[in-house]
Amino acid sequence: MAFKLPDLPYDFAALEPHIDARTMEIHYGKHHATYVAKLNAALEKHPALAQKPVEDLLKSLDSLPAEVRTAVRNHGGGHFNHSLFWKLMAPGAGGNPTGALAAAIDKAFNGITGFQEQFSSAAAALFGSGWAWLVADASRKLSIVTTPNQDNPISQGLVPVLGLDVWEHAYYLKYQNRRPDYIAAFWSVVNWKQVAANLEAAR
Ligand code: MN
Repeated sequence: MAFKLPDLPYDFAALEPHIDARTMEIHYGKHHATYVAKLNAALEKHPALAQKPVEDLLKSLDSLPAEVRTAVRNHGGGHFNHSLFWKLMAPGAGGNPTGALAAAIDKAFNGITGFQEQFSSAAAALFGSGWAWLVADASRKLSIVTTPNQDNPISQGLVPVLGLDVWEHAYYLKYQNRRPDYIAAFWSVVNWKQVAANLEAAR
């Protein structure tokens, strides 16, 4: 199999009480695993494409054969998004960013509080299933965008620095319809070191 489910960098219960163990177990072991399986199935007859990094496929969706384009967009996007997402959280994380990341956020959003408010509002307002993102553009300017379904900003030439899954499967067992509570809890587990590394890699 070309694409593999990456190891989760912590135990299912590691993000408790903010993200519950049962949600992590199903989200990683069922949802993410299914995106990987369906991506592999879609590219079974396209071994050259199956050898490429998934981000390369998502950067050039228009160049893919029409019969696999939607499957790569949805299941490849799901694989790529969740692979990013697990690393963006960590036990005992949260707090505030530091260094160059903090300076970039201050410049773009007039401080970390302003950034968190704008990001939280965008994530809460997103209708249906999708993701909220902090992205860097080609000039390294930071902004907040949302994407529907499993789309990733990388398909629009943007670099995802921080992302939050707001599909109901990400929070429903613990938070039911209270998406804003899930978003608030996310700030307690954000792995700013990984966010800083993503921004650094975008430079
Ligand atoms: Mn998800």
